[in-house]
Amino acid sequence: MKEEAEKIIKGQFCPYCKCETKLVSGDEVYPHRTNDDPRPKFLDKKYYMCLLNSNHYVGTYSDNITSLGRLADTELRKLKNQGHNTFDPLWKTKNIFQSQKLAYDWLSEKMELPLELTHFGMFTVEQCKRAIEFCKNLDNENV
Ligand SMILES: [Zn+2]
Repeated sequence: MKEEAEKIIKGQFCPYCKCETKLVSGDEVYPHRTNDDPRPKFLDKKYYMCLLNSNHYVGTYSDNITSLGRLADTELRKLKNQGHNTFDPLWKTKNIFQSQKLAYDWLSEKMELPLELTHFGMFTVEQCKRAIEFCKNLDNENV
C-alpha cells in the first residue's frame, strides 16, 4: 500500500502497531528528564509518537513538524545511531567522499533505493544493518 508507506516515512503512521501518531513535545518522550537543570534542548523539540506505545517515536527537523523519518523502537534507534556513526565520518572527514551528497549517492546505489529514501531515519533494522556493512567494507573497494 503506497499511501501507508508514505505515511510511515513521514512519521504519521506507526509501522509496529499499525496506528496513527501524534505530535508531542520532548517532555512526553522523556518524562523523567523534565526536572533537569539546565533544561536540555531536546525537551522543547517536537516528536511524532505512536498512540498506543510511547516507546515508538521519531524526532523532527528544526521546523518541529517534518519528521526525521519513520517511528523507531529501542532496537532501531540503536541501529540508526550506529549507522550514522559509521557513515557520517566517511564524508565529514573527507577521507572517502568529498561531500555529503557524494556519500549519499554512493549509499543510494548500494542500497538500490531512490536518493530521497536513502536516510537512516527511514531505514528498517535490516536496511540499517546492510548500510553499516557497506560502509565497513568500503576499504576493500574503489569508489
Ligand atoms: Zn506503535
